[in-house]
Amino acid sequence: MRNVLGYILVIICIVFVLPSIFTKKREKTAKVNEVQNVEENKKEIVKYDYSKYSNIKLYHSKTSSVEEIPIDVYLYGVVSAEMPASYEMEALRAQAVVARTYTIYQIIHSNGKHQEGDICDDFGCCQAWISKDDRLNRWDENERTSNWDKIVEAVDSTQGKIITYDGAPIDAFFHSNSGGITETANNVWGGANFPYLKCVETAGEEGYSGYNSEVEFSREELLNKLKSKHQDVQINFDEENCIEITEYTESKRVRTIKFGNIQIAGTEARSLLGLKSTNFSFEINGDKIKFIVIGYGHGVGMSQTGADSMAKAGSGFEDIIKHFYSGIEVTFVNEL
Ligand SMILES: [Zn+2]
Repeated sequence: MRNVLGYILVIICIVFVLPSIFTKKREKTAKVNEVQNVEENKKEIVKYDYSKYSNIKLYHSKTSSVEEIPIDVYLYGVVSAEMPASYEMEALRAQAVVARTYTIYQIIHSNGKHQEGDICDDFGCCQAWISKDDRLNRWDENERTSNWDKIVEAVDSTQGKIITYDGAPIDAFFHSNSGGITETANNVWGGANFPYLKCVETAGEEGYSGYNSEVEFSREELLNKLKSKHQDVQINFDEENCIEITEYTESKRVRTIKFGNIQIAGTEARSLLGLKSTNFSFEINGDKIKFIVIGYGHGVGMSQTGADSMAKAGSGFEDIIKHFYSGIEVTFVNEL
């Protein structure tokens, strides 16, 4: 009888208890798989289909070669070349959207400027770009992974997004430090103005290294710099107002400046004298002429330090973009 009871217990165990233990284990495994699938699916889902803008043809200016790469992979190289990875995530996101907009604009308006390429890697012509290997090598070893991941997140989390005005991508100019107020495009390059590029003020840029700078020349050095373009320049340094700022732009940058017998644009003075911006004043002390400069760059469109300063104060990337570009929308590229 005991034996029979024992058998019954063993059978109950086999039939009911053991399967439930295995089932639990299987359920657990299934849950892990499910989580992994969700993660993989997430990655799948966030991949934006750029349709005709999937790949861009990058013209390498040093080798005159053209490389075709996925647009966001190209943008990892642009954002990491154009903005310090130490900047706030929202500033990096704004930079990613601005750079993507600039890229799409170049694709649409390239006009064969870069042979077979859509855009080049020269910051003086289009926008800066750096390969992943070169980028990683220039960062300290202990921050390589975290910096790169941050750049990738800034680009990936804004996939497909660009800035439009009247339903078309804008010419998304940007620069380093506006010195507190941005400049309009026509004051820098002449021509027609862009309705979305107005003078806007931003607080907090004075805390960044490019905000203040000075350049000092002897009289002779100054004359030589000017003579590289204007051979007939003469300055009588004994005369009062021998150097004089004759007009300012709306953003208080130098529009025109007189050096002795010549008058040149502030933008030309900036390039001839190597000043960081056209927001400058000067002092003459004996043989020395000192230029005191505020801000860094042409001043048009988004200020990168302004973007970082806004992000630090709590602004999101769309707020930052809407601050620097007037009357625009942040939309998906396929909705053009
Ligand atoms: Zn270019």
